[in-house]
Amino acid sequence: MLLLVLASVGECLAQQFISRGRTLTDFDTSVRADSIPIRVDHLPTRIDAEYGLMKVCFNIQHSRTSDLKIELVAPSGQSIWLSNRNGGDQGADFANTCFRSNGFSGYIHQASAPFAGEYSPDGRFRFLNDGQNPNGTWYLLITDLRKGEGGVLTYVTLEFGANPMPNDEKTPCSFQNPAACRCSTDRSDCQLLPDLVIIGSFTRAQIKEYAWNDPTYPGQLRFAASIANIGDGPMETVGNREWYCQQQRVDSGSRCADGTLARQRLYQRVYSRQADSLSWHDYPAGTNYFDEKPGHNHYHADDWVEFRLVQRYKTRNGREAEKVVATGRKVSYCLFDSGICRSSDTLCQDRGITYGPENLANYGLGSYASCQASRQGISVGGYDTYGMMYEGQYIQLPKGLKSGTYWLEIVIDPEGQYREKSRANNRFTMPVRISRQQ
Ligand SMILES: [Zn+2]
Repeated sequence: MLLLVLASVGECLAQQFISRGRTLTDFDTSVRADSIPIRVDHLPTRIDAEYGLMKVCFNIQHSRTSDLKIELVAPSGQSIWLSNRNGGDQGADFANTCFRSNGFSGYIHQASAPFAGEYSPDGRFRFLNDGQNPNGTWYLLITDLRKGEGGVLTYVTLEFGANPMPNDEKTPCSFQNPAACRCSTDRSDCQLLPDLVIIGSFTRAQIKEYAWNDPTYPGQLRFAASIANIGDGPMETVGNREWYCQQQRVDSGSRCADGTLARQRLYQRVYSRQADSLSWHDYPAGTNYFDEKPGHNHYHADDWVEFRLVQRYKTRNGREAEKVVATGRKVSYCLFDSGICRSSDTLCQDRGITYGPENLANYGLGSYASCQASRQGISVGGYDTYGMMYEGQYIQLPKGLKSGTYWLEIVIDPEGQYREKSRANNRFTMPVRISRQQ
């Protein structure tokens, strides 16, 4: 009887909050986010997996949606990305677009504009339904990152209700319940190393060659890269406020003599399972820094991926050979979970095996919601996506490159600064047709 009463109370508590919109600010030399407050009150004082934020909807008329980074900020200050520069270079309008944990129309970053449907966002509702008190002011934060196209938000709504994240798997192994974590072999004690792979389908869906007369991306091959962790433990970096300019110790936020920002020494935190508990050891790893480019304004791990364009050919004596025809810079990323591997959508694959909760022993271990300096990472079964319209996601094609078939290579951790279960799967390749004489 008590259960019945509680259930009906749950039903009554499904509640919607609305804010009216406004004209959005176009990018103009510096970033100015439009911040739309949404007042929430009279809700239970805790949101979590049982009751919480279920759905966010808005309508934005904008002729180039990929200019926009759209975030939702909770009263605690915790935020997630709803959509970050999606829609390619042509897509227009969020047409009464909704976001929910299990959006029926799939992930927003795999969809095409106009986005009319219910999508899974670029971030995760779990990071908002984290036990906080939802009563207070929420903000929809809209940042335009490219000049030339304006837009209008007409409304935004938030909806709260029971079972807000029905597709989130129950994850037995966690820092709170270490006895449920497993070694991937039949040993009882082991190191739980991460294993990073590129999700090929994201890159294959988001890749585009731009001509030399393109006003914005002349001679660029732009593409997305998404890195999944299919290992036994999280990929985690920690910083202890050790900031440097070259070998000189400096304060955080310092600018060095060469104009770059100070680097923080990072450690990779590797967990071990020992007698039903988890311990960890910090190994010196790479560095991170504050990335001040529009759309970032957060901390990036240095030299996280490298891009190359390779030509394969036959030598005069008939042997297969290859040469690198273009190399991108080593690109820095913020490490966080933008999505999770599920067996049903077959995103996270390596050598023909799909990874998800069924075959990742410690699925869900870790929890990395934002791009702070002190702690970042990718959970077991999490992935971190950088879309094709993000800064740095390109190779500059060399002048005089002939049209033909080449190979795009994406290498994770090209300097080998981080420990992994296997580095043999860190290099992803796919054929690319370069159609224009560059
Ligand atoms: Zn970033």
